[in-house]
Amino acid sequence: MKAKAPPAKQAPADRTDDLLTNFLTSNLRLDARKGHVELMGHRIMLFRFEFLVAIQKQLETTIGTSAKGVLYLAGERAAQEVMPAMADRMKQLPSGKEALVALQRMSDIWATIGVGRAAVTMFTPGEGRYSFKIEDSTFPAAYGPSSRPVCHLWAGWAAGVVKRLFGRDVLCEEVQCRSMGARFCEFEIRPHIALPPKP
Ligand SMILES: [Zn+2]
Repeated sequence: MKAKAPPAKQAPADRTDDLLTNFLTSNLRLDARKGHVELMGHRIMLFRFEFLVAIQKQLETTIGTSAKGVLYLAGERAAQEVMPAMADRMKQLPSGKEALVALQRMSDIWATIGVGRAAVTMFTPGEGRYSFKIEDSTFPAAYGPSSRPVCHLWAGWAAGVVKRLFGRDVLCEEVQCRSMGARFCEFEIRPHIALPPKP
């Protein structure tokens, strides 16, 4: 039996999740002989989130509250270094030139690395302010309960991405976290206003 043609005005179904799933499975290569895993030609390592949690908790034990800044800056540095490769991946996804589309693409790419599902919740590029949330975030689930946000790596990463995409110095703060019992992790990005030099 022939399927009915959809009405002319019906919006096309959003197949992003299917595309992302296929994208990852068709671009992941394992060379067991060498013990290498590659994604689009970039060597990657597969590990459980407990590995990252162990690094963060050891930093917190050894250097205390400075751990947050170290992890944030590490995330920012990683974004700056990985962005060219991410740009390759963005080309593989449905194209778009606008900044919001670029950010949405970036959140789609996050879905492929297992961090959770990110979504832009506020977008005011004129003011350099953005917000996003990560639902089903995996890192805080592995970290366990905390009285403060714990996703410093992702906060730094997001700041690095915005810096690289829009050439603007920004700060990113996680304002609520799944580790604190929130339904999702939420991040706010705002311009980084440099302090005036000391007289
Ligand atoms: Zn979090």
